[in-house]
Amino acid sequence: MVEEFAFDNTEERRRDRQNDAGWIEVIVGSMFSGKSEELIRRLRRAQIARQKVQVFKPKIDDRYSIEQIASHSGMTHVSNPVMTAKELMAQIKPETEVVGIDEGQFFDAGIVEAVNELANSGKRVIIAGLDQDYTGKPFEPMPQLLSIAEFITKTHAICVKCGATANYSQRTFDSEELVEVGASGKYEARCRRCFVPHSDEPTVHD
Ligand code: ADP
Ligand code: ZN
Repeated sequence: MVEEFAFDNTEERRRDRQNDAGWIEVIVGSMFSGKSEELIRRLRRAQIARQKVQVFKPKIDDRYSIEQIASHSGMTHVSNPVMTAKELMAQIKPETEVVGIDEGQFFDAGIVEAVNELANSGKRVIIAGLDQDYTGKPFEPMPQLLSIAEFITKTHAICVKCGATANYSQRTFDSEELVEVGASGKYEARCRRCFVPHSDEPTVHD
């Protein structure tokens, strides 16, 4: 399946800029689905177009590096770790044209109003995050962000059990915590058939 992202086309952006409007792009999917890769790809293209870019991630996620967003395939981009949506907004520079945000699911509910405000002020906002938690439930605030976004991209991983399209993040250990930092070895991509929604179900490793 080939996807075209017309909205990072420079010509289209220029047209949108005529009324000073910004917009919101949301990238959602399971773990390992390529959300960070896609976010980094769009941010790099914006920088090639010499647009002013600021990138943020919540402080809760310390995988690989605090000062970077990173994909599982090793792509990285410098980023600014922030605790809250309010802190993010306080760091926004007026001249910034593109705001990238990774791990959106770890932000407080204030992120919804924040990204709306950024788009209203003429900025392009690209926010990536998990749309479901490890039990398969919608992961707030991503559903709200999906509702207000102009553009939505759903990315998919490959099921590690059967090779089908994976839409779920399977937890492979027991924990009561909704959020477990550091996905490496703790989660795997699963399809609808292979996903086991309850964390207390044993996970068999081949
Ligand atoms: P996300 O941000 O959605 O967790 P990343 O962008 O960090 O995803 O990583 C995507 C990359 O992870 C893929 O390009 C691939 O190299 C790697 N990968 C590892 N396991 C899988 C899997 N089960 N399905 C797809 N890609 C995988
Ligand atoms: Zn499967």
